[in-house]
Amino acid sequence: MPHPAIEERVALSRFTTLGTGGPARWFAKPQTLDELVEALEWAAARSAPVSVVGLGSNLLVADEGVDGLVLKLAGELAAAEVEGERLLAGGGAPLAVCLHRARATSLGGLEFTCAIPGTVGGGVKMNAGAYGGDIAGALERALVVSAAVAEWRTPAELGLEYRRSELDEGEVVARAEFRLTPRSTEEIKTIVSEMQALRKAAQPTNKRTFGSVFKNPDHELTAGRMLEACGLRGHRVGGAQISPRHANFIENADGARSSDAIALMAEARQRALDEFGVTLEHEVQLLGDLVLPTV
Ligand SMILES: Cc1cc2nc3c(=O)[nH]c(=O)nc-3n(C[C@H](O)[C@H](O)[C@H](O)COP(=O)(O)OP(=O)(O)OC[C@H]3O[C@@H](n4cnc5c(N)ncnc54)[C@H](O)[C@@H]3O)c2cc1C
Repeated sequence: MPHPAIEERVALSRFTTLGTGGPARWFAKPQTLDELVEALEWAAARSAPVSVVGLGSNLLVADEGVDGLVLKLAGELAAAEVEGERLLAGGGAPLAVCLHRARATSLGGLEFTCAIPGTVGGGVKMNAGAYGGDIAGALERALVVSAAVAEWRTPAELGLEYRRSELDEGEVVARAEFRLTPRSTEEIKTIVSEMQALRKAAQPTNKRTFGSVFKNPDHELTAGRMLEACGLRGHRVGGAQISPRHANFIENADGARSSDAIALMAEARQRALDEFGVTLEHEVQLLGDLVLPTV
């Protein structure tokens, strides 16, 4: 063991919703800010790259694994509580828990997260959003920690835009604060069930996927409609398949590897370029030595 709190060669496939990915060379689950800083300093002393997994719901991890320290926030860094009209959460807190806490105290503003199976930190990194809401719209500030900094940043300072932020490699969202609005529990429940029904009608909800593969391009067609028009629904490479339900999703149909998903993504991008002149940009985050060939 390199350090009591740091494990070696931990399989990351169990931390991704697609269920693929090799081991992290080093892995730690810091529960407090002090433990997080200690792990970051440990990595910095070895010049080891640092990355974070949330709920792995927008993550494709190389089959060969990750040559660095991978963190999964736990304990108080994964908890959430309401204080007045604000929700205070650890970066590792599931958005579902945040929504639950807000609903229980009759506070609205996080309903859109019912469609997003990730954490606060992953949500900030991706500026996750759905049905007209996004993290940038609800977030007041986030505490960003790395070996070099620990500072609170506003959405503008985080550079939150459509499915992106300006968080650098190795920067960890350790905590976040959301401002919420009084709303009755009944109203929140109604909004959430309407959003969930819309979601169920349009996307594969009972399959292993990593959410949207590509960002929607600046085009009259969404990425999903474009790939559908390319005839890619149901197209398969190895154990990975473009969802027969929604062409901007890749499903783990049967023992998929991340390399299968990458091959499907490469083919989809090429087809979109050939048929629509559009270069699709991937939304899913790649971790480890994974490269999507240029088109
Ligand atoms: C069925 C399904 C539906 C989805 N629907 C939506 C949707 O409607 N809208 C939407 O926006 N997304 C959607 N997603 C994608 C995904 O849920 C979001 O992008 C989510 O915000 C990812 O959070 P995560 O915690 O799982 O992050 P991960 O997938 O674990 O990581 C994503 C990125 O965030 C980084 N990261 C994670 N935690 C931290 C942290 N604490 N600090 C810094 N960086 C961090 C990772 O390193 C990685 O780069 C969907 C996914 C699935 C599987």
